Amino acid sequence: MSAPENAGWIRTCSIWRALEVVGDTSVLLVMQAAWLGVRRFDEFQARTGLLKTTLSDRLKRLVAAGVFDKVPYSTRPLRHEYRITSKGQDMYWTALMMLRWERRWSRTPASLDVRLRHAACGHPFEAVPTCACCGDEISARDIDWEEGPGVGWMPPEYSRRRQKRQAAAEAPGVLIEVAQLTGDRWASLVLRSIFTGLRRFDEIQRDTGMASNILSERLTWLTETGVLGLRDIGGGRSEYRLTDKGIDYYPVLLALLVWGDTYYVSSEGPPLLLRHRPCGQPLRLQVSCSACSGPIQVRQVLYELGP
Ligand SMILES: [Zn+2]
Ligand SMILES: [Zn+2]
Repeated sequence: MSAPENAGWIRTCSIWRALEVVGDTSVLLVMQAAWLGVRRFDEFQARTGLLKTTLSDRLKRLVAAGVFDKVPYSTRPLRHEYRITSKGQDMYWTALMMLRWERRWSRTPASLDVRLRHAACGHPFEAVPTCACCGDEISARDIDWEEGPGVGWMPPEYSRRRQKRQAAAEAPGVLIEVAQLTGDRWASLVLRSIFTGLRRFDEIQRDTGMASNILSERLTWLTETGVLGLRDIGGGRSEYRLTDKGIDYYPVLLALLVWGDTYYVSSEGPPLLLRHRPCGQPLRLQVSCSACSGPIQVRQVLYELGP
């Protein structure tokens, strides 16, 4: 299916719908704090370093999106805390994939030392993205994809908010470079295009509906961070290729896709169908334990905070 005449539309995709909720660095900082046990406004502020107005706006948005519940914990005086809903808990797989990528590729050292322990086997572990059918570790190189019944085009809702990539580097946490990347919806959208085989500036622009200056800025930034490489293909033309660091970002997009397909699927069905080439089956993401290779349940993940 090709783009409609209206230039500036984007191919609908569950990744984009998920990014409309979490594709914001400040939102990711708030969620990171919640995953590490923070519930109350003051604690969120201390942990994220966000301005009160920004924090209050992001909390409101997460409540509206059904990711957090706002629950009173005291009646006199009336005070609320924010608890992660089951929809928010399902975002946890994305968090684990983000953490995995950060630890493998980030050039900025984490300011918090968080260790994961798998309650089922008792060992420290790293999360491994695997195929639920054959159990192999997932690599973007092994995925075939085709458009599903729910594919369509929609006008993007541009946000006037300025991206604050720097916020992720300043807040104490474990997700820094990945929060800058996932927190920038346009950057993630560019990567989605390149993962589906589009490599030239004009192709990516048609697919994402981005203005030239915005696309150009993102491509430069992604190249500087080592996620993309630029290759001369002759005739004065060049194309963008994913580096190993870029290819390894795929499990983050996949986890976002799963979440988006769960909560924002259109009535016609999913917009994108994926197949795991080694086993030939439709791809389903299973996050597994690096120590025991067993599948991980959300409640089996224990944290230890280092000094
Ligand atoms: Zn498989
Ligand atoms: Zn284990």
